[in-house]
Amino acid sequence: MNDISKQNIKTLVKLQEAETQIVRLKSVLEKVKKEKEKLSGQLKQFGNALEENKENLLSDRTACKDIEREIQVVDDRIIKSNEKLRMVKTNKEYQLFLREVDDNKKRKDALETELLEYLDEKEKTEAIVQESEKEYHLLKDQIEGEQKDIEKKSTDDRELLDEYLTRQKEIGKNLDPSLMTRFVKISKMNKGSAVVNVKNEVCMGCFMNIPPQLYIEVQRGNSLISCPQCSRILYYINT
Ligand SMILES: [Zn+2]
Repeated sequence: MNDISKQNIKTLVKLQEAETQIVRLKSVLEKVKKEKEKLSGQLKQFGNALEENKENLLSDRTACKDIEREIQVVDDRIIKSNEKLRMVKTNKEYQLFLREVDDNKKRKDALETELLEYLDEKEKTEAIVQESEKEYHLLKDQIEGEQKDIEKKSTDDRELLDEYLTRQKEIGKNLDPSLMTRFVKISKMNKGSAVVNVKNEVCMGCFMNIPPQLYIEVQRGNSLISCPQCSRILYYINT
């Protein structure tokens, strides 16, 4: 019975060593994932801004075309009115077509002014799009490079994590399933720390004192003792 207990403690300590590495590596990999996501987010945000500028450019171009088309229509009207003007017979008709020409000319002037404003706007947007396209590609290259670096660095960690997970499974085979369940439960409760050392009557998990009688029992190692404060399984190494 006592030997089984001592063996169990040894196994649990090994299990804990693997667990500590697993928790550490998972945290490192989680940070890596977040960093990659942050970088992707930055690129996406920049891409969205670029898309918005492109849409603005498209609407500026459409506006320019619409105005140019309207100017063409007004021009045609001016030509027709001028033709009619040449063939008028009465003064009343003459005045009427003259006003028609005049109105259309005014309309054309207004449209041309508007067109100039839109052309100006379009030019500015074109410059912005060109500039941000360049910046976007630079940023994309940079971010993809950084992500590749991060990925490369975390490959080792991922392999190591797999190794520890396999090792933990192997170690776990030597434990009673109920003890394994207990280990998993305590580990979950304490962020990956289920089995801890006791030094000078202090639990190295929660750093609280444990009763002297319990300390003696831990030192003997004849049974599995849990810390009364944090429930971690306690062990003692004689150093
Ligand atoms: Zn404790």
